[in-house]
Amino acid sequence: MFQVLVKNISGIVPKLLEALDKSEEIFFDTTTQVIMDDWSKDNIVLTGDAAHAPSFLTGQGSSLAMIGSYILANELKNNNNINDALSTYEKIMKPFAEINQKAIENEGSFILYPKNEEEMEKRSVILKQLENMNKEDMEAHDMIDITRVIEYPNLSN
Ligand SMILES: Cc1cc2nc3c(=O)[nH]c(=O)nc-3n(C[C@H](O)[C@H](O)[C@H](O)COP(=O)(O)OP(=O)(O)OC[C@H]3O[C@@H](n4cnc5c(N)ncnc54)[C@H](O)[C@@H]3O)c2cc1C
Repeated sequence: MFQVLVKNISGIVPKLLEALDKSEEIFFDTTTQVIMDDWSKDNIVLTGDAAHAPSFLTGQGSSLAMIGSYILANELKNNNNINDALSTYEKIMKPFAEINQKAIENEGSFILYPKNEEEMEKRSVILKQLENMNKEDMEAHDMIDITRVIEYPNLSN
């Protein structure tokens, strides 16, 4: 089925198909996001991918994991009650994680996996535009800015 789907694509694809025929082992994987109703129970808490994996299609998983850990550490330091700390961490971090997860709901994946000529053309246009972008204008830069969601001590710098 895979060979039928890509048979009209030129470039490196015919060579890859040839290699595919000769391979004894083929690695194939799916891309998923982790969406949890709750991030903590009693004194157990989820962070990073375990709480909110956005999938590598967003390119934001490590950033989210680090920002979430920073917020969790601060809330643990600032709250005497562990349940207050864990629920405040989730309240602050969840909307931010959701913004990043939703970023690829519609069109995001064609940047990595264009499905047809039209999507390949769309991707080329976007990649060419990146050359002339300022760092401040880049959507990815915007996406990791949690200050869009909340004013958090020390994170605005
Ligand atoms: C192909 C790919 C490309 C990516 N590209 C980007 C990118 O460009 N930018 C970006 O920000 N993110 C990217 N990510 C996502 C990023 O790698 C993850 O979001 C990030 O690593 C999550 O960190 P984490 O600490 O939550 O989990 P992990 O990095 O998965 O760490 C969990 C650790 O726990 C260990 N572990 C598991 N079970 C147990 C156990 N029972 N006992 C002890 N240890 C255990 C594991 O071995 C692992 O070391 C990419 C991911 C993939 C797969």
